[in-house]
This record gives sequence, structure tokens and C-alpha cells, in this order.
Amino acid sequence: MFLVAISGPPGAGKGTQSKLLVQEFGFEYISTGEALRREMAMSTEVGKQIKMLMDQGNLVSDEIVTDIVRDVVKESIEKNARGILFDGYPRTVPQAMLLDEIIEENNIDFIGMIGLEVDENVLINRILLRGKTSGRNDDNEESVKRRLDEYYEKTEPVLDYCKLNGKYFGVDGEGEVDEIHQSINDIIKTYI
Ligand code: ADP
Repeated sequence: MFLVAISGPPGAGKGTQSKLLVQEFGFEYISTGEALRREMAMSTEVGKQIKMLMDQGNLVSDEIVTDIVRDVVKESIEKNARGILFDGYPRTVPQAMLLDEIIEENNIDFIGMIGLEVDENVLINRILLRGKTSGRNDDNEESVKRRLDEYYEKTEPVLDYCKLNGKYFGVDGEGEVDEIHQSINDIIKTYI
């Protein structure tokens, strides 16, 4: 089973590109952000903890997120899936190290991390615009600043970690949706 991860700062277009990739390659898909929002909506004890962190733009604990990911990997293997696409995971270096373990344990073929590269001003504008219709409590100016800080502090080091292993593919995330999609396709197609 193949594995591709898509990363980028908040508002980079991970969700949009992921949908197109799933159509193209028929991969299973997990957005940790969406999975956490579903858990939050159930108002369980864990859901309440998640809400407090997410609304303010903080990352959720590596343990909670990795449990979700492990379940999805297990289900995908049971289904005999061709591949799996991670949107928003790994987002910290400890998560990346846990992912290495999951890859090894399950004999997964890790293609790499696709990083959508977008300038900070563009991101803030995109998210504040999205906030008008997304209904997300974290799409406001204060939370966005916090999310960007979390990204630069905790997620950018993951990209360096992938680079060291020759597993990082940067893509310009500021062009047209279709152009960006094509660039990502070209990368993935050289591996599958
Ligand atoms: P965006 O990339 O636009 O911030 P996401 O839906 O990917 O949107 O993530 C929203 C929030 O979900 C993050 O700000 C964070 O609180 C939480 N989250 C998502 N993925 C992870 C992860 N891998 N580790 C920790 N927290 C996460």
C-alpha cells in the first residue's frame, strides 16, 4: 500500500488538492482536522478537550491524533486499499517519528510529503474569506495567527525531517487549482 502525505500552512489548499488526488488515484483519505472536528461535535470528554485547543488555534496532542491515524491505516489495510492520503498529518516531529513506526510495522510504501508552499499574506486573506462561510470557530484573525505560529514552530521542522530522508516535494501553492494538481500528479506518478 502506498502512502502520500500532504502538508502546508493553514489555508494552503490541502483539502482542495486532496479531493482531486483521491479522485485521480482512488486512495483512502484521512484529514486529521476533519476527524477531530467530528470527534469535537460528539461532545465527549475528549471532544471537549479538542474543542478548547482547536478553537484557539493550538495543535491537539500527538497521542489523540496518532490513535486516529492508526485506526485508519488498519482499516485501509483490511480493505486492501491501493493507497492512502494523509491530509494534515504528521504535523509535529514526534508524529513523524510515530508515522515511521507505522510505516515499518505495516510494510507501507511511503512516497513522501507534498508541501504546498504559500506566502503568509495570501494565507491570512484566504482564511478570513473562508471564515465567512466555513462555520469554523478557528477561522478568525486571532486563531489564524496562532495556527500560523504553531505551523512555523512545529510543522516546518517536519518538512526538514522529510527532506533529510529525501521524502519532501515542495509545490508552489499559489497558482491555479488545476496547475497545482498537475504538479502533484507528476510527482506521485513517478512512484506508482
Ligand atoms: P488548517 O490546515 O486549515 O489549519 P485542518 O482542518 O487541517 O485545517 O486543522 C485544523 C486544526 O485541527 C488544527 O489547527 C489543529 O488544532 C488540529 N489538527 C489537525 N491535524 C492535527 C495534527 N496532526 N496534530 C495536531 N493537531 C491537529
